[in-house]
Amino acid sequence: MPPLPVIAIVIPVFNEEAVLPTLFARLSAIFGAQPALCAWRTVLVDDGSRDRSAALIRDQVAADPRFELVELSRNFGFQAALAAGLAYARQADAIVTMDADLQDPPEVIPQLIAAWRAGAEIVRATRRTRTETGLRRLGFNVFHGVFGRLSDFPMEPNSGTFGLIGHDAIEAFHQFPERHRFFPGLRAWIGFPTTDVLYDREERAAGQPQQTLRRLVRYALDGLFSFSHLPLRMLTYTGVFVAFMGFAAAVFYAARRILNIETAPTGYTTLVTIVLFLGGVQLIGIGVIGEYLGRVYDEVKQRPLYVVKRRPGGPR
Ligand code: UDP
Ligand code: MG
Repeated sequence: MPPLPVIAIVIPVFNEEAVLPTLFARLSAIFGAQPALCAWRTVLVDDGSRDRSAALIRDQVAADPRFELVELSRNFGFQAALAAGLAYARQADAIVTMDADLQDPPEVIPQLIAAWRAGAEIVRATRRTRTETGLRRLGFNVFHGVFGRLSDFPMEPNSGTFGLIGHDAIEAFHQFPERHRFFPGLRAWIGFPTTDVLYDREERAAGQPQQTLRRLVRYALDGLFSFSHLPLRMLTYTGVFVAFMGFAAAVFYAARRILNIETAPTGYTTLVTIVLFLGGVQLIGIGVIGEYLGRVYDEVKQRPLYVVKRRPGGPR
């Protein structure tokens, strides 16, 4: 019998003490029920939790060697924590990426593995339903609407981080030198045969969403700016358009002067409107350029994505 494939489950954790015991139990139950499925390990990345999450994981690691803890030195954010997990689970045959809060039901993992074994290098878990409401939902809809139009590599709107990536795709991930990472976007970018496994997204098992709306907006902007130059191009178009209008207006008024047609004497409102409009366009332009420039600066600094504090239970 060929050896079982090694599946690593990478889970970023930030202040999830309320859900961790259930998460551990459900993971163990799934793989316990199907021992012939795979050899598995779980890499929990503690992203600087301020509650008992790290302590709970440490206990679990001591009790069950299939659980590992990568403890970051502070809160680096979800994408960085995910990158840390991917790095530490690199040798696995495939990596399952999921949230700790059980919104991504671990019961779907066997289906992900089955799809991978059927030949897909990237398996996206795709929601049949969305549980977000109100502002968050509106935000997701707007983002995916805009992103789908702008990006050269559109993402499946109903899949997030949850999914599986095979070994070749993992290696591809490690070739990204960039600091601003947006996992679903990169996953779409690297290519490979991809399939979707449908599932129903659940409510958070307990606790509050750890990603503030502000952070989600930041990810959305990261997604846009790092996958599209269209905002810059739009600036050029706007510039050309405004310049053309200005030129046309100049010709128009000059002609009236020359032909001695009476010109309106005041024009104060027009002037103010034009000045404000142009000022606004220029400021937006500087802002958009700044978004790209800031990102360039971050990349040039080449700072590490995360700093690991301590890692009990894992190979050094
Ligand atoms: N998370 C993290 N670092 C952070 C914020 C969140 O590692 O700074 C983890 C969190 O513990 C969870 C996952 O990222 O496992 C998704 O977070 P959350 O459920 O708050 O996000 P949402 O479901 O609203 O996208
Ligand atoms: Mg969540």
